Amino acid sequence: MKKELIDKFGRRVTYLRLSITDRCNFRCFYCKPIKDFKYIPHEQILRYEDLLFMARVLREYGIEKIRLTGGEPFIRKGFLSFLEKLREIFENIYITTNGYFLKESAKELKRIGVKGLNISLDTLDRNLFERITKVDALDKVLEGIEESVNAGLNVKLNSVLMKSNIEGIIPLIEYGAKKNIPVRFIELMPISSEVRKEFLSEDSAKAHIRKRYGFIPVKEKFGVGPSKYYKIEEINAIVGFISALTHNFCETCDKIRITSDGKLRVCLALDDEVSVKEAILKRDENALIFVVKKALEKKPLSHNMSLESIISGKNMYQIGG
Ligand code: SAM
Ligand code: SF4
Repeated sequence: MKKELIDKFGRRVTYLRLSITDRCNFRCFYCKPIKDFKYIPHEQILRYEDLLFMARVLREYGIEKIRLTGGEPFIRKGFLSFLEKLREIFENIYITTNGYFLKESAKELKRIGVKGLNISLDTLDRNLFERITKVDALDKVLEGIEESVNAGLNVKLNSVLMKSNIEGIIPLIEYGAKKNIPVRFIELMPISSEVRKEFLSEDSAKAHIRKRYGFIPVKEKFGVGPSKYYKIEEINAIVGFISALTHNFCETCDKIRITSDGKLRVCLALDDEVSVKEAILKRDENALIFVVKKALEKKPLSHNMSLESIISGKNMYQIGG
C-alpha cells in the first residue's frame, strides 16, 4: 500500500507543525494568560531522539514540510543540534519564532539550511510591543530580523491584526518593504473573551491600507501556508493575509499539529487530541501510523471558529500556533 496520509475528504496531509516546547519568554495577551499559565512538566516532554524517530516515519508517509514552533522554539536547549539532525530527514524545515534569539543563531540557521523563518512582529512601537508581549524587547527582535536578513535567510513577518494597532499597519508594511520582506497579517483567533474585543478583520485592515496605498493581488506564493498575497507597487511591498475567521481556507488544509508531549491535533480548532507518545516511545512505526490515520478520520472539512465561540480549551502557546 502506498505510504501516504489522506483524510476522509481526500486532502493529502503533507505539512507537520511540531511544537517542541510550550515554554516562552513572552506573554502575548492573545496567546498566553497573564498569570496561572501552566507548562507541561519536563518529564512529559518527548526527547529530541523521540521527535526524530517520529519525523523519520512521517516523512516516509508523505510529510514534506515541517515547521518548528512553540511556545518559543529557541527556548529549548539543544534546538540547533536538533535542527541539524532534522535536516538529514527534511529538506523543507521552517521555523516560527518571536525573534528574540535570532541575533545569536541566524548564521547557524543558514548554515544548517533552514528553508524559511516566520518572525512575529506585531508593532514597531516600543511601548505597544511591551504591552502586547510584557517584555521590552522590540530592539532585540529588530536586531534578530536584521541579522536573519543579512544571513540570507528567507524571512517573513507575521503580524496579528488588532484594533489597538490599526495605526501600526502602514509602518509595518513600510518596514517590510524597506527590508524587502513580506508582511503577513493574521486575523486574531478568539481564545478568550478578552482577546475577542481586539479582533480586526482582514477587510477592515485592507480598507485602512487603501486610504494610503493601492494594492493588487499577486499569484506568487511567498510561503507554504494559506496566505493570500498582494503587492503595493508604489513602495514595492508584499502583504499577505491569513484570515481564519473571515476568509476560511480549510478546503485546502494539508496540516497536522503535534505538541511536545506527543498530542496530535488534526485541526487547530478541534480539541479532540490523540496521543502518539506511546507509539513513539516504543519505536513502533505501525502503531504510530495507525493512530495518525485514525485521527485523520476526524479531521473536519472546516473549522467551526467564530467570534462568538472560543476556539479551544487550550491557549495558542499550548497548541503550537
Ligand atoms: N513564539 C513563536 C512566535 O510567536 O512566533 C511561535 C509560537 S506562536 C504561538 C505562533 C504564531 O501564533 C505567532 O505568529 C502568533 O502571533 C500567533 N498567534 C498566537 N496566538 C494567536 C491568536 N490568538 N490568534 C492568531 N494568531 C495567534
Ligand atoms: Fe510566546 Fe509566540 Fe505566544 Fe507570543 S505568540 S506568547 S512569543 S508563543
